[in-house]
Amino acid sequence: MDFIFITPSEVIEHMFCPRFTYFMNVLKVGQHEHRRQLVNKGRLIHENKLVTNKDYLRKKVGADSKLLDVYLSSEQLMLVGKIDEVLFLQDGTAAPLDYKYAFWENRIYNTHIMQQTLYAMLIELQFQRTVNRAFIVYVRSKNHLEQIDITENLKIKAKKVLDDIFNIINLSYYPNAKKSKRKCEDCTYRNICVA
Ligand code: SF4
Repeated sequence: MDFIFITPSEVIEHMFCPRFTYFMNVLKVGQHEHRRQLVNKGRLIHENKLVTNKDYLRKKVGADSKLLDVYLSSEQLMLVGKIDEVLFLQDGTAAPLDYKYAFWENRIYNTHIMQQTLYAMLIELQFQRTVNRAFIVYVRSKNHLEQIDITENLKIKAKKVLDDIFNIINLSYYPNAKKSKRKCEDCTYRNICVA
């Protein structure tokens, strides 16, 4: 059986507007451009990470060991992702650590929380370890470190979003638009989208 794998970035785009899932994964519009942007973004973060990859951050969060640049996929979740670091913590749990080439703006965006929750679920399945925390390093604010509590509620919410995405893909249906017209103004799909 062929499995369609989606990435956490595609999940985040679905959160921006469910029609992205339809255009990207059902009609396959703009897929190449989209993937190229992801690859370029990945390169930028990777290059920066070479400078910022500090052991003191891992000590600060109580990590015994770590894996770098880990590609994980799950047929159960139909999800694939690349995690900057997988940390194995002293309390027996594991956690993703992600570098953002960004300033700390006194809030963690919902999209980043969703991304880390998906990474947490991939790590749990791959390594059979509980993941109840994730870490983000804001590189442009002197490696400011933030912790996210990965709760059961967040995991349930993430599974629901994955279900919504695969419903659109499997049934090829045209989902309702997000209500915010402001989003449509900047949207790359506005020329083909029937609002
Ligand atoms: S134009 Fe608006 S409704 Fe259509 S895909 Fe973009 S954000 Fe969604």
